[in-house]
Amino acid sequence: MGRLRIDLHTHSTSSDGTDSPAELVAAAAAAGVDVLALTDHDTTGGWDAAAAALPTGMSLVRGAEFSCVVPGPDGATDISVHLLGYLFDPAHPAIVTEQLRLRTEREARLRRMTEKMAAAGYPVNVDAVFALLPQGASAGRPHLARALVGAGVVASVDEAFAKLLYTGSPYYVEKVDTPAATAVAMVRAAGGVAVFAHPLARRRGRVVDERAIAELATAGLAGLEVDHPDHTPADRARLRGLAAELDLVVTGSSDYHGTNKTTPLATETTDPAQFEALVARAGAGVEVLAG
Ligand code: AMP
Ligand code: FE
Ligand code: FE
Ligand code: ZN
Repeated sequence: MGRLRIDLHTHSTSSDGTDSPAELVAAAAAAGVDVLALTDHDTTGGWDAAAAALPTGMSLVRGAEFSCVVPGPDGATDISVHLLGYLFDPAHPAIVTEQLRLRTEREARLRRMTEKMAAAGYPVNVDAVFALLPQGASAGRPHLARALVGAGVVASVDEAFAKLLYTGSPYYVEKVDTPAATAVAMVRAAGGVAVFAHPLARRRGRVVDERAIAELATAGLAGLEVDHPDHTPADRARLRGLAAELDLVVTGSSDYHGTNKTTPLATETTDPAQFEALVARAGAGVEVLAG
């Protein structure tokens, strides 16, 4: 048997991916993925459909990507960060409450962004944007981006972000995210493990410094997502050093979003020994599901 292919960060139509959970699992099987993590933004809504579609021989790591903030250095404005939570109990009250709050917040914010664009004369409306959103899914800017592509305003989701939807654009509306240390505590209390997603992905906006990562490690963070499409070789080297220093697990993942991004499944993967170390740090949440 060859080396296991482990992809620990993917999105389905439960958030801003374009494959349904079942289609995602099938696409992962076709890409030769042995261990797949489903990590939709602020929801566990896709877990059951992904589990039901799991083929023999594939393992499913049930997770989510939590929208978070860390305080900026010297009291500057907060920095937006993403935390990957894995193997936590999805019924843990703190998780249920916070994810519901964030999905409600996401929906209101996407409505306001759409209304701002419509008021400025762009041919988009709330109904068309929300028609792209399955019931109960987590709303995000990519849904508005697709509506803009559909209306012929831009040619791609990428172009929509670059020209209109980037953080701080005139049409951008903030959402109130969870303090990262709170999210780490929540995931751990629910028996899971937390990994800092794409910590140095500067195309998303400002990134944190090493002190902030060290503080989260003290708060119980288990790992750093080092190998990610948005990280340069220098970013990866720096993060690998930091992980060694702070005794954190190193992960790698595609952050697959279907056709909303160009990155294919398993373009980046996690070393099997690192994956084992990550699972060993989890408490009694949910097990890695064997298909
Ligand atoms: P939101 O969660 O609504 O703030 O939107 C952010 C999401 O948009 C991220 O999770 C990415 O999936 C996606 N995104 C950000 N930048 C781009 C881009 N340039 N092209 C495509 N998708 C992007
Ligand atoms: Fe996303
Ligand atoms: Fe992310
Ligand atoms: Zn992601």
